[in-house]
Amino acid sequence: MLTHLQNKVLLIVSKHLKDKPITGKEISEQIGLMDRQKFKEGADIRSIISALRIKGYPICAIGNGYFYADTYTELTRYIDSFQARIDAQIQACDGLKKSYPNIGREFVSEEQESDEPIRKVRRGNPEVWVVKGSKKNHDVVITNMFYSCTCEAFRFSSKHKCKHTEKVRIAKRDEIKAEQAAAPSLFPLTFKHTNQPN
Ligand SMILES: [Zn+2]
Repeated sequence: MLTHLQNKVLLIVSKHLKDKPITGKEISEQIGLMDRQKFKEGADIRSIISALRIKGYPICAIGNGYFYADTYTELTRYIDSFQARIDAQIQACDGLKKSYPNIGREFVSEEQESDEPIRKVRRGNPEVWVVKGSKKNHDVVITNMFYSCTCEAFRFSSKHKCKHTEKVRIAKRDEIKAEQAAAPSLFPLTFKHTNQPN
């Protein structure tokens, strides 16, 4: 069962073969969608086309026009290109899922980066350090005190460490020492007072 609009669109598109595609705008002009929904006509036609495809009509697209498949090859080619776009979208989505450690991260040019053997690029949780490797740089990410590294050695390490995570551990130890040295009065004084006999 098709809706009234789906039926109208199908009648138009099915008359347009690959050598004579029709744009979404032209379709909406022909069915009179344009006047009622001036700003949404493109989106509307897209969703009607999508619904028709779901119902099993071989509507393909080329450039910015739609056409009705006339041969198996036309349909197969279009399905392949459609699938490739979906695969790229899935890859992008998977990449986004891995991008949490890069939230709020600052990036510098590669020349600058290569000068420093180890450098903190993100504060907070997760904290991110870039460690210069022999071939390429690796990210050491500290999430809730848990260290991880992007290198191969870390991935296969049963002890969840590699030379990069250990370098960052040392750097963090030095960092804490430096912070304590910068604020020397806080802890020693408190202890001195409480430990003093009356
Ligand atoms: Zn590593």
